Formats: sequence, structure tokens, C-alpha cells
Amino acid sequence: MIASQAAVRNIEADSIKADLAAEFDAVIIGAGVSGLYQLYKLRELGLKVRVFETGTGVGGTWYWNRYPGARFDSESYSYGYSFSQELLEEWNWAERFAPQPETERYLNYVADKFDLRRDIQCNSRVSAAHYQEETRSWDVTLEDGRRYCTRLLITAIGVLSAPTMPRIAGVETFQGQSCHTHYWPKVPVDFAGKRVAVIGTGATAVQTIPEVAKTAGHLTVFQRTPNWCAPLHNGKIGEEEMRRIRANYPDIFARCLETPGCFIHNPDPRATSEVTPEEREAFFEKLYAEPGFGIWQGNFRDILVDRKANALISDFVARKIRERVKDQAVAEKLIPKNHGFGTRRLPLETRYYEVYNQPNVELVDINETPIERITPTGIKTSDAEYAFDIIIYATGFDAITGSFDRIDIRGLDGRRLKDKWSAGPQTHLGILVEGFPNMLMVMGPHAGLGNFPRAAEYSVEWVTGLIRFARDRGLTRIEATPAGVAQWTDHVMALGEGLLANEIDSWMTGVNRNVEGKQVRRIMRYSGGHPVFRACCDAVAADGYRDLALA
Ligand code: NAP
Repeated sequence: MIASQAAVRNIEADSIKADLAAEFDAVIIGAGVSGLYQLYKLRELGLKVRVFETGTGVGGTWYWNRYPGARFDSESYSYGYSFSQELLEEWNWAERFAPQPETERYLNYVADKFDLRRDIQCNSRVSAAHYQEETRSWDVTLEDGRRYCTRLLITAIGVLSAPTMPRIAGVETFQGQSCHTHYWPKVPVDFAGKRVAVIGTGATAVQTIPEVAKTAGHLTVFQRTPNWCAPLHNGKIGEEEMRRIRANYPDIFARCLETPGCFIHNPDPRATSEVTPEEREAFFEKLYAEPGFGIWQGNFRDILVDRKANALISDFVARKIRERVKDQAVAEKLIPKNHGFGTRRLPLETRYYEVYNQPNVELVDINETPIERITPTGIKTSDAEYAFDIIIYATGFDAITGSFDRIDIRGLDGRRLKDKWSAGPQTHLGILVEGFPNMLMVMGPHAGLGNFPRAAEYSVEWVTGLIRFARDRGLTRIEATPAGVAQWTDHVMALGEGLLANEIDSWMTGVNRNVEGKQVRRIMRYSGGHPVFRACCDAVAADGYRDLALA
């Protein structure tokens, strides 16, 4: 236990299953990248831990998103865990940007290697978590009614794990196959000769569309907002390259810790205006030809904050789209007009634009001809009725706070977290919430995001440090203070000023037109860069967790 035994609720009166008697030092929600590592770290402290996972297996994002073409946009070798030298020695990445099956295999390998599964309970969706002040513990309820008591509640529920369907009439009436990309089936879907629709053109759709277009009889893409995309330039990693990567791991991880987004790409120190037009063009060309996020994260330092600079890179990428798409009317539809390059999360693509040169692919701009309804046989827009065998909803997520909203989380006096955050999240360090004692969020709102495992490893280690601190001092109650939250929220808001991305509707600003109450833009992310984020968190820890209420 952390200090004293957390009292088990009186179960006599309830007709609940025997599991209620189970008592944990910590319950972790989610067995994805962060949940697995959090379990590993809490075991090191000797705590009794249970992980609840909705899926039938581990992997989180990489368990669920098995749609065709799913892969990450981080260099594989910068995406794996860095905490175990043995793991780094043993695991070989096969592709520069690993596809979903490889990453799912990797996370399963990690679960087995560190014997994590014995504390992970799959098929267990947490539906509610209520704080009990008298016992300083959380009462956790699963969807099937089972209940558990834990001193600490740790959320490791990701940033993009609450998928949303479009609010279009008739979705449930469609008689063919249909699926949100997040819930893609484990068995392969055969597109050969089929009439397929994809709704959405975000990072997910941009990966799915070229794969589906390879075999579909006819593919119709319904686009509401085009996104700026850039080439991924994926490739295989051979033995020799893997040997070099392995030798370089210390440098790779050190470099990731120096960059704002924890990627291997660092912004160029120059402003666009500091070079000649020829030098600028040559630099953009170089970035466009290189793998990964360099063109977004490693571009001139002003492209994401200065409108003129942003217009230059937007113009460059628009020219590329016009070169790659033969039909110029289609090219124009694919060029974003309402936001600049990189102000939404940049989808990286493999032959995405060339797909629209194929005779079996059609782009429908639903601003011109809105979707009126899904019918039993397909999709009806304002000017046509389309028949489909398969409809793919690549319609995104209720991001960052959505997965919190889907759990009935109640803190002191039964106050709901969803209500507390109705005007936007308020946290201390993105980890703690005032009024929700003993709840710790790994990668919560207003925490430093970016190359996920790099940021998650830090978050897990900070949370573990706090728990160790409390345990060693016999403290059983950890809470954010109003002053700490106010200070952090002000800091996050101030950093968000001037960033062009915060002036645009996207999941990064918390906008999802398919979710009630999520139409207003908010500062949802920490924009100061991960090194600054870490410095803030480290300072709090070094100062004996100042600004926290510990008892
Ligand atoms: P997304 O970027 O939010 O895109 C959702 C798409 O669905 C948008 O094009 C949106 O249009 C459209 N849409 C939503 N509701 C609609 C409606 N009612 N009618 C028509 N269109 C509708 O979601 P996502 O593509 O799943 O990607 C989310 C994030 O996941 C990415 O930005 C990325 O961070 C992560 N991701 C990462 C990878 C990777 O690592 N490679 C791959 C996939 C996803 P509007 O833009 O008009 O709203």
C-alpha cells in the first residue's frame, strides 16, 4: 500500500460480484503505450496495481486502429521505449515508419518481456470512478458492473481514443458494411471490385485512401476540409541500418529530448526572411524530399507563427499538389483555402495525391454538394445518390478530453470532471486536477504532447516520482491546489498566444462538430515545447512538489 490500507467499501448490502473486495494501490486505465510503462514503473515501487483495458489485448491506439495503411509518422527508432537497454538490443524495426501490425507486435512483446499481463484485465471498460473522501480512495466501476477500490486512479487513456461518428441522418440504416476506422475489424476487409466510400480527409483517411484505391472497384472520397499533406518517404530498415540505429540510440533519444515535439526534427534557427528566395525554395525542396516530419517540425522557425512565412510554405506545397494531381479542378479542391500549412496536424502520405489520377477514384467536395443522408444503399448528397458496398468513416476523435468525458469521473462532493472542464480543461502540469485527489493523468490535457512515447515516458516517470515521494512520507492524499492550477492554466494560455494552429478549427483546438459542446476553439495543448514543459515539471518535483496539497 501507499501508506495505510485503503478501506474497502462495505459490500454487504450490494449484490455486486466478489471482485469488489479487490483492493489496489493503483488502478491504471488503459494498456496502451503509457499504461504499460506506468504499470512497469509502479511494480518497481512494489505497489499492487491493476490495469483495466477495454480491448481484448494490449496496445491502445495500436490495438484499435488497424485500418488499411495505419502506421505512425514518427521514425520507428524514435518511437520505441527507451527505458530498457535489453529491449533496445532485442527489438528490430522492419520499417522506417512502422505499420500498425508491427507496432502492435512490439507492444505485445513488451508486455510479455516484462510479464505485464498478469496485472492487466482486458475486456474491462471503466465506466465510472468516484472519489471517496472518507477513505481517500477511488471506487471504480466497470461497464459490466464489477467494482474495485483503489487508492490511486491513473488515467492512461490517450489523446485520440474517443472516436466520433458524423452526425448525418440515416447512418444506422445502411445495409452494406460500414465501420469507423478506429474500430476496424481484425479480419481483413476485401475491397476488390467493391464500391467504397470514405468520409473524412484527416491523417487517418490520407493513409487509408491509397490502400483502398489499390483494389476497390470504385472509391468515392467525401471531403469537407482538405488538409495540407507531405510525403512520408517510408522504407525498409535492413540489418546494417538497424545496427547503426542501435549504436546511435543514446544520441537519438537525447536529440528527441531537445526538440519541441520530441521528434528527431528540430526547427531550423533561421527565419524565412533571412534567406534568399532561391535558398528558401531549395530548403523547402530538400524537406519535401526527406522522410518524416522535417517539413513540419524542422522547417524555418517562423512558419507556424508568422502569416507571411506560413504563406510561403503553403504556396510551395500547393504547387506540389498541382504538379502531382493531373486534373487541375481536382487539385484545387485538394488545396486547403481556410488554413495554412502545418496549422493542423500534418498528415504524411504515400501517393495520396496520385490516387486522384486513378480512374476508379472520385473526390466529392461536400461543401459544394453536402451529404443529406446515409441511405440503406449508400449516400445521398444534394445533387446525387451514390450506391456503396462499404462506407468507411474516417471522421476522427473527440480529442484530448473526449476519453475523460466518456467515463463518469467524480471528485470531491460528487463533482463531475466533465462539468468542471465544460469551459475547457484546467489542470496542474496536465497531470493533476483540483477537487480530484489521488487522480493522476498520464498525458492529460495541457501536458506536453508530441512524439507520443517520448512524452509519455516522461509523464509516467514524473507521476511515479510523485507517488514515491508520497509513499516514502506516509502521505495518502495528493491534490492540485487552486493556485497551482490557476498558475499552470495561465501559463498554458499565454504560451498558446500567437501560434497559428490555435486560430484554426481542428482536434488540436478541441473542435469536433460531431460532439455537443465542442464547437468552440480552446487551448487544449501545451505549446511551449517539451523541454520547457519538462523544466516546469522538474522544478515542481525538485521543490518538494510545491503547489500541491499533500497530506
Ligand atoms: P481528423 O484529423 O480529425 O479528421 C477527421 C476527418 O473527418 C476530417 O477530414 C473531418 O472534416 C471529417 N469529418 C468529420 N465529421 C464529418 C462529417 N460530419 N461530414 C464530413 N466529414 C467529416 O481525424 P483523423 O484523421 O482520425 O486523425 C486524427 C489524429 O490522429 C491525427 O491528426 C493524428 O494526430 C492521429 N493520427 C496519426 C496517424 C499517424 O501517426 N500516422 C495516423 C492517423 C491519425 P473537417 O476537417 O471538416 O472537420
